Amino acid sequence: MSNYNWCHGPNCHTNHTQDRIRGVKGNKVLRTRKITENNWNRGNVWSVFCSQGCYTDFFYKYWQQVIAIAPRTEPKETPIEVQVETRTDWRGNPYKQKVIKSIDNQDQSVVG
Ligand SMILES: [Zn+2]
Repeated sequence: MSNYNWCHGPNCHTNHTQDRIRGVKGNKVLRTRKITENNWNRGNVWSVFCSQGCYTDFFYKYWQQVIAIAPRTEPKETPIEVQVETRTDWRGNPYKQKVIKSIDNQDQSVVG
């Protein structure tokens, strides 16, 4: 027995695809896709959306409610150190390069 969910895309049932056709002749419908849970979609959004399009349709329809769950009223900040390093180009000439170093992890990136 496998678990499944119906796709949450608000317009899923309006897409003209063969796999959505249900019912008998004279009484046919396009039905929302059923998504079977598997190792690839278990515990992530693809267990409730059948496609990128349905995922996007959902967000465009409900974005205000989604944002209301976790509104951002102030910007977030990542503590960094900016260091100027001297490097050498392919000709062997030295040049200065700003490097951003994160403080809480060892990630670093070059400022473009
Ligand atoms: Zn869908």
